[in-house]
Amino acid sequence: MKIAIIGAGFGGMAAAFDLQRAGHKVTIFESADYAGGLASGFKEPHWNWSVEKFYHHWFQTDKPMLDLIRELGWEDQVLFPRPLTVMYHAGQFHPFDSVLKMALFPGLGWGVDKIRFGFVGLFLRLTDNWKALEKITADAWMLKWAGKNVYQKMWEPLLVGKFGPYYKEVNMAWLWARIKARTTRLGTFQGGFQNFADKFAERLRMMGVEIRLQTRVKFIKPAPDKGLLVDAGLIESFDRVLVTTSPYLLARICPDLPENYLQGLLKLKSMGAVVMALSLKRQISEQGYYWFNLPKEEGYPFLALVEHTNFVSPENFGGDHIVYAGDYLEEGHEYFSMSEDQLLERFMPAFKKFNPAFDKNWINKIWVFSTNYAQPVPLVNHSKNIPSIETPIAGLYFASMSQVYPWDRGTNFAVEIGRRAARLMLA
Ligand SMILES: Cc1cc2nc3c(=O)[nH]c(=O)nc-3n(C[C@H](O)[C@H](O)[C@H](O)COP(=O)(O)OP(=O)(O)OC[C@H]3O[C@@H](n4cnc5c(N)ncnc54)[C@H](O)[C@@H]3O)c2cc1C
Repeated sequence: MKIAIIGAGFGGMAAAFDLQRAGHKVTIFESADYAGGLASGFKEPHWNWSVEKFYHHWFQTDKPMLDLIRELGWEDQVLFPRPLTVMYHAGQFHPFDSVLKMALFPGLGWGVDKIRFGFVGLFLRLTDNWKALEKITADAWMLKWAGKNVYQKMWEPLLVGKFGPYYKEVNMAWLWARIKARTTRLGTFQGGFQNFADKFAERLRMMGVEIRLQTRVKFIKPAPDKGLLVDAGLIESFDRVLVTTSPYLLARICPDLPENYLQGLLKLKSMGAVVMALSLKRQISEQGYYWFNLPKEEGYPFLALVEHTNFVSPENFGGDHIVYAGDYLEEGHEYFSMSEDQLLERFMPAFKKFNPAFDKNWINKIWVFSTNYAQPVPLVNHSKNIPSIETPIAGLYFASMSQVYPWDRGTNFAVEIGRRAARLMLA
């Protein structure tokens, strides 16, 4: 079969790997001039490693991702350090990445709240019944079982930060999945995620996959006889097409989809993200903290501060210290239209809260990255609203972040859904 894949992100490339190996002729169309999609990175000339545009790491439970790396023979290039995550309480940051540290966290006091927090966490780690949990919002479930104090201190800030105006509508299965599948050791690839994407793209080319970078697909149409027509400047015919973009983009490039499928795509909600990456002359968290969870109500202008070089060594970046300040935001938020300088002005006062000595002179360079499709929003009974991978148009398949569920989206699940789509296409 002649197969087209739209998107050279982790999902599209994983699907291409299986489809080409099964003996088919695969062409990947990618609008950017690089592979890697949302997990792509960039590099300064004096850096040995690339840095992701949006902070990225793997968990030890990311089986599909780690299995794929093993199949590619690159498992010796995966690193799993144990960086430190901290939570805010009363003007200070406290380690929060093990049961012991959670038990010692002063934010919940030493009484019934800590016990409720512990029991709720234990229940969620042990249960597999996410189908019952998706019927209720995380807000309502946590208020009932963890109680107002625990919820407002621990979970509400996370929901507000990630889902903004939708935070009261997100279902409890999403929160369950986060608690269930995360590990304290976090993984990365030697050279950064972009190095993995480049190596993977190179391997696919060697296998015979054609990857057309800087080639935007404008529309997909059923062909009059059989198969599908793909227009990316030149109209070509394919037996099967897999789209890995956002649902809104699929709706735009394939308006021939039946009305109910189209409406299903357009009804899905998601949040965008704006992330500032900074290269600094000095370390910002001298305690070596990697991930700072920040409550919005304390006036921080972003959701998380992530010091990447407290996760991987600054030696990989010519001694530069790499820090991210990032936030999930709804479409139209002012951050999307602010200049780099305006955003820096807004963020600067907060940097001093992590290190009072912080000064503008520490900054070598800043970059601002944004995307309007960063985090799908799973509402109550989301499983009933997920568009099928096999679309109603014969030969047209769709595998995106919005169909990853109940787990939270990530490169691991992009690989899983990409390979699942490939199996369906081969069936
Ligand atoms: C802020 C942030 C933090 C994240 N943190 C993590 C993390 O720590 N760990 C983790 O594993 N994951 C993380 N993720 C999620 C992860 O990046 C995604 O789940 C994953 O990269 C999605 O892969 P994909 O292949 O499904 O889609 P994408 O990576 O979005 O790939 C789709 C591709 O399609 C291309 N495309 C779009 N339109 C067209 C067109 N018309 N024609 C041709 N090509 C087109 C795009 O350029 C893109 O390359 C994070 C994401 C964000 C935004």
